Amino acid sequence: MFRFLARLFGATSEAARRRDEEALLEANLLDALMEHIPDNIYFKGKDSRFIRINRAAAKWYDLEDPAEVIGKDDFDLFTREHAAAAFEDEQRIIESGEPIWHIEEKETWPDGRITWVDTSKLPLKDRKGNVIGTFGISRDITDRKRIEERLRAAKEIAEAASKAKSDFVANMSHEIRTPMNAIIGMAELMLDTDLPPTLRDYAETILEAGESLLTLINDILDFAKIESGKVELAPVSFDVREGIGSMMKALAVRAHHKGLELAYEIASEVPQVLVGDFCRLRQVLVNLVGNAIKFTEDGEVVLEVRVASTANDAVKLEFRVQDTGIGIPPDKVRHVFEEFEQADKSTTRRYGGTGLGLTIAQRLVEMMGGSIGVESVVGKGSVFQFTVGFGVGHDDALASAEGERGHLQGTRVLVVDDNATNRRILAEMLGNWGMLVTTVSSADSALDAMAASHEQSTPYSLVLSDVHMPDIDGYSLAASIRADSRFDAAVIIMLTSGGMQPDADILADLRIAAQLTKPVKQSDLQTAIITALGLADQPHCGNASRSLPALTKRSLRILLAEDSIVNQKLAVGLLTKWGHHVHVVCNGEEAVAAGDSDEHDVVLMDVEMPVMDGLQATRAIRLREQTTGRHLPIIAMTAHAMTGDREKCAAAGMDGYVSKPMRQHELYQTLAMFFPDLSEVACH
Ligand code: ADP
Repeated sequence: MFRFLARLFGATSEAARRRDEEALLEANLLDALMEHIPDNIYFKGKDSRFIRINRAAAKWYDLEDPAEVIGKDDFDLFTREHAAAAFEDEQRIIESGEPIWHIEEKETWPDGRITWVDTSKLPLKDRKGNVIGTFGISRDITDRKRIEERLRAAKEIAEAASKAKSDFVANMSHEIRTPMNAIIGMAELMLDTDLPPTLRDYAETILEAGESLLTLINDILDFAKIESGKVELAPVSFDVREGIGSMMKALAVRAHHKGLELAYEIASEVPQVLVGDFCRLRQVLVNLVGNAIKFTEDGEVVLEVRVASTANDAVKLEFRVQDTGIGIPPDKVRHVFEEFEQADKSTTRRYGGTGLGLTIAQRLVEMMGGSIGVESVVGKGSVFQFTVGFGVGHDDALASAEGERGHLQGTRVLVVDDNATNRRILAEMLGNWGMLVTTVSSADSALDAMAASHEQSTPYSLVLSDVHMPDIDGYSLAASIRADSRFDAAVIIMLTSGGMQPDADILADLRIAAQLTKPVKQSDLQTAIITALGLADQPHCGNASRSLPALTKRSLRILLAEDSIVNQKLAVGLLTKWGHHVHVVCNGEEAVAAGDSDEHDVVLMDVEMPVMDGLQATRAIRLREQTTGRHLPIIAMTAHAMTGDREKCAAAGMDGYVSKPMRQHELYQTLAMFFPDLSEVACH
């Protein structure tokens, strides 16, 4: 019995001892945790006053000893802003018994500091499960929040900058388009008058140069679209020789102004009609040839087009733009396709430019399934080369062109040009038409060649001479030919650079049959030769495609609301030429007043005007019409070409839209949509 009791007491004291040890261990573990864990831990009573905090929390509150905080609450440590929010959270937990996980708390301190913590808060329960307070653990996330804050601010700045950029582009486009409207429009008006050939050529060049410039402006606008992958290709059938010829003629003005030779060669195996996005191709070429002209002081710029490969109804063409310009240093050459990148920043002031052109060119070429590259030697020049795939189209006009060319078969022609590239290109072109070509590089050798061929009774029917040559120029050569009766039958055609037009008397005296501006379009040269040799069945009308109706069957009464005097002149000139009556007003308010009567058939409404803009004026007119039941067609005329402008005009109640620079055809077709009887008139 004694032993039993002794064992029992021994066991009991053993259990108590073990329990004491466990309790001690537990307390030690908690102390260790509270002493060393880097996150802040707190325990609070139901009144949200602290019962205990850990060492890290004491440090966070700037206290020497964690015990200092016992009995205090958040209102003693923080500003009211944070203390009140934390108090509410804790009271909610006490009421609901539900914890809160990972909230981001903004802590505002009395000294003005702000810190951020990631906090989880839970109900504190006794052994029976009754809620007796709260406890929580929080981690400092101030650095992360500051970085996020900075990122957000940077993003806001970037977004504001991007908006400012597109606003700028839209405004710039508007500012440029307004004078362009006048340049293109006036040139078109001039072309519709009876012009002597030289002036017609000038006006056509102005028009074509204006059109290229306009394309460029549009494409700069498109840059944002290209960047966001929103550009879509618009494939059309086009005559590659005509298209590139016109483009090169437009660029020739600048090249000739600098005394550069500008030449192009399209290999004979390149199909006449291609299917592809010619506008985008032209944009790339205008950029590369434009750059070549810009960065070349002496020598020549040559565009070559060859077939790289063919497959069924498709062809891949290789375009090479070669210049004898300043070249690009090897360390810069890799970067020229990067946006806003210019090989030598100091050239910017000298040569101008944005550094955007090649980036756009590269993106467009890639979109068209090709690739672009460059090779360059400083001081010698550069070659930009790219490939693009096209479909092969059918050309109905080809047969007749070939028929006419048949007349040229076997005709002997002497080409005189000091520039070897030009000689090669002309020889190939004329040779392709079956002509027998001799090329010489100076006036002296031309006269020798003519004398020799006369001896052999195989005289040249045609002399095709450059005007601008060293030593003896083309006109002096022509004078020598005319002074020699042996060469009486020779027909002379001159090739000249832009600004070198002699007066008509000289041309007549020297019996120069035609004078063409370089680089000459294949079709223009062919027409000139056929006409000069008297082989044409009928005289050629070079501007058939441009002629527009001179008189309309129906005369419209048009209200024109436009504040720019130049644009007023242009529109009035055009519309009155078509036989319409135009009533001009200068702002939206006047348009609303004038539109009140039944006197007008249609309104042409500029969008941006002082006093009241076109959109407001349209809304006012439409509002008034709700009582009259009438509907006056309103056509917007705007230099805003950004996406969404058309929709804005439509939303204001406009019925049609013509973008500026206003193109005769576009305006005519838009009017014809409302007044179909206009389209029945005869073209002159
Ligand atoms: P921009 O001509 O408007 O500056 P681009 O993107 O068209 O912009 O050209 C970028 C840069 O590449 C030019 O600033 C120039 O330094 C260089 N570059 C382009 N083409 C030529 C060229 N044919 N010869 C020499 N440098 C060129």
